[in-house]
Amino acid sequence: MKKAIYPGSFDPVTFGHMDIITRSAKIVDELVVGVLNNSAKNSLFSLEERVSMIKEMTKDIPNVKVASFDGLLVDYMNEIGATIIIRGLRAVTDFEYELQIAQANHVQNEEIETIFLTTDLKYSYLSSTIVKEFASYGGDISKFVPECFIDRIYDKYKDK
Ligand code: ADP
Repeated sequence: MKKAIYPGSFDPVTFGHMDIITRSAKIVDELVVGVLNNSAKNSLFSLEERVSMIKEMTKDIPNVKVASFDGLLVDYMNEIGATIIIRGLRAVTDFEYELQIAQANHVQNEEIETIFLTTDLKYSYLSSTIVKEFASYGGDISKFVPECFIDRIYDKYKDK
């Protein structure tokens, strides 16, 4: 059984992430979307909120699970028996860092392979940062995230 993890911050999850999730779920038997509990990164949404938004978004894909993890990705993969890492590539700027991380993870554990999916052209510009930037100025984010998340994102900026 091929078990993969798609790790990230997902702060918040976007249509770009969803595209990678949908496509990679067709390649592997089980996909775990792993939300990183990174206390050093100042996130807009709490870990629980990020997990629950991804659960809502992926509820119709039976082989997708959502979980959170902290610490080293390779250790978490060992714990859950996953051997494949899924990452999305948007532009060459993503590549240098991703290559380095993929190689470092492979050195840690030779069983681990990273699969890169290239972004759908429609979403090549899209990142959680762009969503937050637009939302902070009250801009239109309807092309970036599902309708049901829009107010939740705006609400985060209400008191700021
Ligand atoms: P991280 O902090 O690990 O970069 P992100 O939540 O920003 O976490 O991204 C998680 C993964 O999703 C990364 O592999 C990133 O390249 C990919 N990704 C993000 N947005 C897109 C997009 N629009 N198209 C394809 N892949 C994307």
